Amino acid sequence: MSQAGTAQTEKGAAKRRCPVITEDGFILSMNPRTGETLKKIPITPADDVKKVVAEAREAQKRWAALPFFERERALKKVSQYFLDNMDTIAEEIAKENGKTVYEAVLMELLGAIDFITWFAGRAKKALKDRKVPLHLMPTARSYLTYKPVGVVGVIAPWNYPLITPISDIAPALAAGNAVVFKPSEFSSGVGQLIERCFKEAGFPAGVLRAVYGGGDVGAALVSSGVDHIGFTGSTATGKKVMETAAKTLTPVTLELGGKDPAIVLMDADLDEAAQGILWGGFSNMGQTCASVERVYVHEGVYNKFRDKLVEQAKQHLNMDAANPQSQFGSMNNELQAALVNNQLKDAEEKGANVLFRLETPKNDGFYVAPTIIDGVTEDMELFAAETFGPIIPLYPFSSADEAINKANDSPYGLSASIWTKNYNRGEMIARSLHAGVVTINDHMITPGFAEAPWGGVKDSGIGRIKSEDALRGFSEVKYIYHDRGMMPHKAWRYPYNKAKLAFLKDMAIANNDMSFVNRAKAYMRVLPQFLFGFKKQD
Ligand code: NAD
Repeated sequence: MSQAGTAQTEKGAAKRRCPVITEDGFILSMNPRTGETLKKIPITPADDVKKVVAEAREAQKRWAALPFFERERALKKVSQYFLDNMDTIAEEIAKENGKTVYEAVLMELLGAIDFITWFAGRAKKALKDRKVPLHLMPTARSYLTYKPVGVVGVIAPWNYPLITPISDIAPALAAGNAVVFKPSEFSSGVGQLIERCFKEAGFPAGVLRAVYGGGDVGAALVSSGVDHIGFTGSTATGKKVMETAAKTLTPVTLELGGKDPAIVLMDADLDEAAQGILWGGFSNMGQTCASVERVYVHEGVYNKFRDKLVEQAKQHLNMDAANPQSQFGSMNNELQAALVNNQLKDAEEKGANVLFRLETPKNDGFYVAPTIIDGVTEDMELFAAETFGPIIPLYPFSSADEAINKANDSPYGLSASIWTKNYNRGEMIARSLHAGVVTINDHMITPGFAEAPWGGVKDSGIGRIKSEDALRGFSEVKYIYHDRGMMPHKAWRYPYNKAKLAFLKDMAIANNDMSFVNRAKAYMRVLPQFLFGFKKQD
């Protein structure tokens, strides 16, 4: 979507473009439901990004020098600030993003608050020294230490403008790093909101910095000398980020696109599956990397499931822009709305059947009608490309193997779900799916769990975010080996001689021979030298 940041004058802007980058160097933060400009945000000149990173590096030294409990306290004050201001923050997110206030609370604030608290509290335990016992050198002290990498660059998309960057910002800060964060040009107002919340919560100045702009500012951040890049966005941009990062060998974590499958087995609780899949496909207007984009249903229950899904959609869903209880907002921006509508049009023109379509408000917003569809074939764009919109396509299958093959037949591998009452079978199928995360009898809820690692395989990304591993991922790992003088043999030192060579070969046998007897005999042979070292004449 970054191409949307092409320069346009504010005047001509693009009531319909949301937002625009103006020729005089501003991002127009806009309300996608109305086209109203909310604020003008100055773009950070790409040349200034290095300076911001250098300043963050200075602030990081003071931050990293604080004991864990002080960093924990500073971060917990931020989550408290979010807690105390949930209503206004949710309104502000909804206004710029197009999502409903309900989903701003459910899918942004709850997770973001929890992540900050959890990572703040967990850092000390996750980053304490870890022993690495050595079977060849049992008496040595051998351990890992963790220290912050320095400055972490976080580049975020627009679909979850709060929780997505916080998923990287929280562990990076808790591990003692400074962060320079670039929000999407489509959600820079929420970027400023994040900066403001940290500041008003009394967070130490300079440790979290933001830079604003489009792809060029993102690229400048990648090549600025930061020590790690946490990127979330499309697969195409992720590849560019990796290419740029390769020039400075900057480590990257890439959280990219998806085309998530849901598999409904014969024995599934169909009401439960229909509810979960409806939410997994339509919440946040389908603008979730892990939204359900392919539903494979066993042919034995296909009609029944299809009817239940459509029935539930008719019963529960409404889309009234003026009604705060409406389950749907608008899409975030015009380009994304056009992309989804084009996929739908292409599918319908080529013969797909629309089973359900919600009426959209008749105003200027970027609305896409949540749609359930079947009869989708390989020649339709909807079939394989990421949709990132509220369309749920249904496909029948006749055996679990067929469902697994179909689910795996995608360049993406972010998450997947299986719906069944047979838990063992569900877990067996989960192991056969080529995805970073698999859920059984639910979809897309684990991104909200701080402890659960998140990330994809294939075109869906590299690395994992969240969980204790994220704290270690934003740390430099150092291995320390300390010979405490309790290993007298030192068979690797000069002079080399026959006795040492025999000892080394016996050590190999003692540790690895498949025969217990051979191992035991070798142990007996090496024991004296192991304990007392070599005699001078050896
Ligand atoms: P995008 O790739 O267009 O932009 C993402 C960010 O990258 C923006 O901040 C953008 O300004 C920046 N950018 C653009 N070009 C750049 C460059 N050359 N170098 C560095 N940064 C650059 O993605 P988007 O449209 O904002 O987000 C939607 C995509 O994000 C979807 O594909 C979605 O699946 C994916 N996503 C993935 C996850 C996940 O956890 N896997 C989560 C949310 C969104």
